[in-house]
Amino acid sequence: MERVRHLIVGAGITGLAYADRISESTDDYLVIEAEAEIGGYCRTVVREVELPEGRARFVWDFSGHFFHFRFPEIEAELVKRMGNERVLRVVRDARIYWPGARAKIGGSEVENWVNYPFQTHLHELPKVDFIECLVDLWEAEQMRHLHPPPSNFLEMLYQRFGKGTTERFLRPYNEKLYATDLACLDVDAMGRFFPHADLKAVFRTMRRDSAIGYNATFTYPEGGAIQYVRALASRLPLGTIALNEGLVQVDRERKIARTTRREIAFEHLVSTIPFVRLLEMSGLLYEQGIYTSNAVLVFNLGFDRKGPTGIHWAYFPQREIFFYRVGFYDNILNTLHMSLYVEIGFPSGQSFSDEEIQSHLERVLEDLRKVGILTDQRLVAWHWVLMDPAYVHITKASIADVSRKKRVLESRGIFSIGRYGSWTYCSIEDNIIEARALAEIHAEAWRKN
Ligand SMILES: Cc1cc2nc3c(=O)[nH]c(=O)nc-3n(C[C@H](O)[C@H](O)[C@H](O)COP(=O)(O)OP(=O)(O)OC[C@H]3O[C@@H](n4cnc5c(N)ncnc54)[C@H](O)[C@@H]3O)c2cc1C
Repeated sequence: MERVRHLIVGAGITGLAYADRISESTDDYLVIEAEAEIGGYCRTVVREVELPEGRARFVWDFSGHFFHFRFPEIEAELVKRMGNERVLRVVRDARIYWPGARAKIGGSEVENWVNYPFQTHLHELPKVDFIECLVDLWEAEQMRHLHPPPSNFLEMLYQRFGKGTTERFLRPYNEKLYATDLACLDVDAMGRFFPHADLKAVFRTMRRDSAIGYNATFTYPEGGAIQYVRALASRLPLGTIALNEGLVQVDRERKIARTTRREIAFEHLVSTIPFVRLLEMSGLLYEQGIYTSNAVLVFNLGFDRKGPTGIHWAYFPQREIFFYRVGFYDNILNTLHMSLYVEIGFPSGQSFSDEEIQSHLERVLEDLRKVGILTDQRLVAWHWVLMDPAYVHITKASIADVSRKKRVLESRGIFSIGRYGSWTYCSIEDNIIEARALAEIHAEAWRKN
C-alpha cells in the first residue's frame, strides 16, 4: 500500500496553500483532487467571441471573486509569483437597486441606486423610506437595552436596525441569498463580513460619504481568480497533485484513505471538502438538518457591447427580481463589452435540466431589462455553474457539532480546514492563513519527533 505523510484532499485555495507551505519542510505529501483541474471555487473560465468590430474576450470566475487582503504581505508574495500578470487595484462601486432613490456615486448624481451598504446610506432613499428607516433605527437604539441579547440572525437585524431597514433590505436580501429562514442562522452568521451601522454612522455618511465595509478597495488579476490559485501551486513539483482522483472513504482506525484509484496510508489527512461529506466518508454520524447550506446558481453573460459604466456590483433585495446580485467584470477590467455575473440563491441539493437552465436564463435576461441593465445589447456568450454548497447556514448547532467532530477527527490525524472544511464564512485570505498555520504546526511537530 502507498504511504504518504501528508495527504491533502482538494486542490482549491486551501489545499494548495497547505501543500505550498508543507513543501518547504518535506516532499512527503500528495494532493488529490476529484476534478480534472485545480482551483475549486476559484476557477476562471475564458470565452472569446468574434464580433464584426473585433474579438471580445470574457474572463469569468465561477462567481465574482474580488480580493481584499488584510495582510498585504500575503498578497504581495502571491502577486510576485504571478510574474507578468497585471493585478488591478479598484475603488469599489457597489450599489443597491432602489427605484426612486437618488445617490451621489463617482462624483455624479444617479437615480434608482443607493450606495452600499444600504444601512448607512438611508438618506439616498426616497423621503418616505428614509424617514421610516431613520425613525425605526432610532427607536431600535432606544429600546435595545430592554431586550435580551438576540438569539438568532433575524432577531439581531430587527434589534440593531429596526423594522424599516430590516424589512426593506436586510431581510429580503439575505433571504434571497441564503434561501432559508433567517431565524435559523446564528447571530454572527456572517462574522466580519456583515457591515454593522448605527445612527452615528448614518449621520456621518450623510455629511461626508465614507466607504464602509471590509472591501472598500479590492484587487483583481486581469486573468481572473485562478491567478491566485496558480501562484499558490507554482512551487509544487509535477506529480504532487493527482487530478481526477477523489476521496471516497476514510478508515479512521487504520488511518487509510480509499480514493477512486487506490488506498493510501497517511500520517495526516488534511481535508478541504465540505465537512459533512468528510463526516460521511469517515463514518461519523451527525444529526439530520445540522449541515444545511444554500446553493448559488451563477450565470456568466457576455454581450456585444457596453452597458452601464462605473458600477462593479449591485444588490437586489426585491423579491420579484430573480437574482440577488449582479457584477460587472467589464467595469473592473475596463473592457468594451458588458460582462456580467448574475447570482441566484437556492436551497442546497437542486439539479437543473437543460430546459430549466434555459428558462432561468430567460428570466435573468428579462429581469436585467426590468432594472435597466440590459437595453439593446445582444448576448453573445454565456456559461453557468451551480456552487453547492456556497453559503453554509451557520447555526448554533452547526458551530457546536463542527468543533466536537473536529476534535474526534484530529485525534486520528484528520484535519478539516477551509471555507467548507470548517463549515464557515470566510475569504480566500482566511483560507491561506488557516492552511499555512496548520502546515507550520505539522512541520514543527515532525521536526520535534
Ligand atoms: C458566490 C461566492 C462568492 C465568493 N466571493 C469571494 C470573494 O469575492 N473573495 C474571496 O476572498 N472569497 C470569496 N468567496 C469564497 C471563496 O470562494 C472560498 O473561500 C474559497 O474558494 C474556498 O477554497 P477551498 O479550497 O477551501 O474550497 P474549494 O474551492 O471548495 O476547494 C475544495 C476542492 O476539493 C475538491 N473536492 C471535493 N470533493 C472531493 C473529493 N471527494 N476528493 C478530492 N477532492 C474533492 C473540489 O473539487 C475542490 O477543488 C466566494 C464564495 C462564493 C460561494
